[in-house]
Amino acid sequence: MSIEICSIGGYSECGKNCTAVKIDDEVIIIDIGLNMENYVKHTQDQYDDVVKREYNDLLSVNAVPNMSLIKDWKNKVKAIVASHGHLDHIGAIPFVAGQFPKVPIISTPYTSEILKSILRDERLKIPNRIVAQNPNSKIKISKNITIELVYVTHSIPQASLVVIHTIYGKIVYANDFKLDNTPTLGQKTNIKRLKEISKEGVKLLISESLYAGMYGKSPSESIAKQMLKEVVGSINCDGKGIIMTTFASHIARLKSMIEIGKTLNRKIVFFGRSLDKYVKAAEKLNLVNFTKDVNIYRRRGEIEKVMNRINKLGNDKYLIICTGHQGEERAILSRIADNELPLKSNRGDLVIFSCSVIPVELNKENRKILERKLIKKGLRIFPDVHSSGHGYREDYRELIHLLNPENIVPSHAGHDLAEKLIDLAEEMGYYKNKNIFLMENGKRLKLE
Ligand SMILES: [Zn+2]
Repeated sequence: MSIEICSIGGYSECGKNCTAVKIDDEVIIIDIGLNMENYVKHTQDQYDDVVKREYNDLLSVNAVPNMSLIKDWKNKVKAIVASHGHLDHIGAIPFVAGQFPKVPIISTPYTSEILKSILRDERLKIPNRIVAQNPNSKIKISKNITIELVYVTHSIPQASLVVIHTIYGKIVYANDFKLDNTPTLGQKTNIKRLKEISKEGVKLLISESLYAGMYGKSPSESIAKQMLKEVVGSINCDGKGIIMTTFASHIARLKSMIEIGKTLNRKIVFFGRSLDKYVKAAEKLNLVNFTKDVNIYRRRGEIEKVMNRINKLGNDKYLIICTGHQGEERAILSRIADNELPLKSNRGDLVIFSCSVIPVELNKENRKILERKLIKKGLRIFPDVHSSGHGYREDYRELIHLLNPENIVPSHAGHDLAEKLIDLAEEMGYYKNKNIFLMENGKRLKLE
């Protein structure tokens, strides 16, 4: 009788997050994500998109988790749970879930909606039932296992901490989160529930460790909003075009951009396929109502038409929000920079990157190239007008303190970053290899 976890992906690198938890004879898989760097390199697609591919093809370039690592558990899998809608957590579900055809895929309504739209857009099919489960609610999987999704703040709507209730105690999966006390969209993290869960006894916490080496607390989303306001408030934008770009799934940030565009009395337009996808999903669930104030264009023909209209009326009448924050070659911003799209720009126009550069070579290089082209056109660049959706060291400390878990496993990082979380846990009285464990892809850990 025991709990055993298998760290399938996301333990030796950032990305392709996937963890299997075996409770006696039943297995729950949490997240099946893409390694975005390998995926984008292979498909030459954008960071916020998924295109049709085969599992084996993607496995060969290390873009999806290697599910053969739990070959011997295959018939025991009872559910796949997705923590939130980022592609490094759900992007590989379309290619993997068919290996477990009778198993339901459980996630919050927004995450489910994103998964469905990926399947629809790419005409991919999976046999699994997609179950939308409200945040802050539970679903019984079997006699001995219940799954609970607890609302947590992150950079996409309806992210959740996944709690597996077992007869041996609770397993809490905290990928990804920050503890934001002043979010600009949606609720705060459900601290009250986390306190209750702690009282009921947490056997294991699997926690992201991406920024465990970053001292202090991750700034709130309301700070990012303030930073955006500050740029357009302190720089004279009269007569200038403004282009903003961010993660297409960052609905809270997009909401701030719209609010700012309205205060500037500009017409707001969104350009890009992935923006359309993530916003439509949020609107379908009544989380936002952007299309009241904004027109979204996704097809090349209509984008060109609108750009020609903007050229005619003057780009200083518009706030343009588009894809391409990582400098992806095929995204709108790169195509504007390359004069592949008709939008004209003038010297002194503003380009605001409301994002960080994801610190992998491909992105760093792509962004450098893009920025060079924009600067050559005489545009002014504003990078890093952003606050992360991930916690810093003190957010992690707070969560550990709140949950008081018996054991901790760092995840969502390579060893160097996981070691930083280990270091933090040691500060809090944990001991390496006794109750905090460094895993790598394909390892198993048994908790007695
Ligand atoms: Zn995330």
